[in-house]
Amino acid sequence: MPTTSPINATTENDFDLIVAGAGMVGMSTALWAQKEGLKTLICDPNPPGSGTTSGSACTIATYACIPVNSPSIFTTLPHLLTSRDSPLSFNIRHGLKNPRWTLGFLNNCRSSRVQHISQALGKFLTHTDSGLDPLIKEANAEDLVISNDCLYVWSSQAAFKSARESNAVRAAQGVLFDELTPEEVRQLEPNLQQPIHCGLHFKGARHITSPQELVSRMQKRFEQLGGKVLPHSVRSCQPDTNGVTAYLDDSTEIRGARFALTAGARSGQIKGTGAEQLPLGTERGYHILYPDHADLISRPVGWAEAGFYATPMADGLRIAGTVEINAIDAAFNTTCTDYLQRKSKEMFTGLGAPSEKWLGHRPTMPDSLPVIGYSKTSHRIIYAFGHQHIGLTLGGVSGKIVTDLAQDRQPYCDITNFAPNRFSG
Ligand SMILES: Cc1cc2nc3c(=O)[nH]c(=O)nc-3n(C[C@H](O)[C@H](O)[C@H](O)COP(=O)(O)OP(=O)(O)OC[C@H]3O[C@@H](n4cnc5c(N)ncnc54)[C@H](O)[C@@H]3O)c2cc1C
Repeated sequence: MPTTSPINATTENDFDLIVAGAGMVGMSTALWAQKEGLKTLICDPNPPGSGTTSGSACTIATYACIPVNSPSIFTTLPHLLTSRDSPLSFNIRHGLKNPRWTLGFLNNCRSSRVQHISQALGKFLTHTDSGLDPLIKEANAEDLVISNDCLYVWSSQAAFKSARESNAVRAAQGVLFDELTPEEVRQLEPNLQQPIHCGLHFKGARHITSPQELVSRMQKRFEQLGGKVLPHSVRSCQPDTNGVTAYLDDSTEIRGARFALTAGARSGQIKGTGAEQLPLGTERGYHILYPDHADLISRPVGWAEAGFYATPMADGLRIAGTVEINAIDAAFNTTCTDYLQRKSKEMFTGLGAPSEKWLGHRPTMPDSLPVIGYSKTSHRIIYAFGHQHIGLTLGGVSGKIVTDLAQDRQPYCDITNFAPNRFSG
């Protein structure tokens, strides 16, 4: 743990903590910090929660310890990349321009690495509730949380067989699930139309009916507690011995004792944090929304081969998933939403046309583990980004950890696996 002068000793600082980025990770950080008495400012040019957080599949996925990295990628990749019916797409030019991410990702597809990643994620996910539930309570948002389990379904025996190893890893990590016959799956969800070979039932799993509403209620509570929100982006920051100066897009300079970098997939774009040097990439993901069909299912259903979830939401049935490896600012790829539309019509009848098509950016490191800890540049800067497919789930626990670090406390759970310096050399 680095040593520093106590944060309140620097009387010239305007804030104890400045948070850059108000997605699930940033707003959780801000609310935890303010709740603990730190004078906190959060900056985001966009409405809190309106980024990737808003469009997720909304599962509190405490069972999701299996990364996209997989030894099978080497054999399945050619099919995944060339098939019209694939949830994965990869822009080769982008991959070649970013060899550090691409080669790092492939390197982390080795069995030993996948085992390490699954264990690290599995352990971290056990802390989900202790990070998230106090925030849900604080934000008076219990009505947005549905506890009605989650289902994964497989259509073919071959695909289920190839997932056996991952499911064994889940079980070894303490994830509880029941294997269901097709009849049992259909009993739970009678409107599913696709072929079903079998299912997994994650009992006790929860989902959120509107993540943006959740973040917005967290913001409201944060402000009630005295926290400040500024609708500006942070361009750069400059740490010194007494604190850190954040430079905003309107030329304002703000002083804080600590700076939390929680800008999701854009975390590397804020200069002076040291994150510019980390191989942060993005897995782009899409959703479509059928507004009148939320009642077709009563819990999130992940269709394993198709690579997406159908989730009953406050505003309709959301079909969310796919992984597109491409530049963060590349154009919207309608091939991905066409795919979701086609496959969702295999899953349900009578859907009609979607009312919404959305693209978001999962922040993903090559090893699918988040980066949480002090920047090498200065311990005034604390990172929390790179939560890939499970940032809605892990935002709360990450925010609680940043609040520990901002007060020079030992984090309440082990973050050794998420050390920023794991990419050095
Ligand atoms: C299709 C899809 C399905 C998903 N399903 C799930 C799921 O079921 N469960 C789950 O747990 N996770 C899921 N995820 C992943 C989850 O959505 C992300 O991991 C999570 O939203 C990341 O949160 P974040 O706060 O890091 O980023 P974001 O929500 O993207 O927030 C980052 C914020 O930073 C702001 N920002 C950017 N630059 C600056 C700057 N310079 N200064 C200030 N602010 C800045 C942005 O405006 C944005 O508001 C899914 C993702 C996708 C794409």
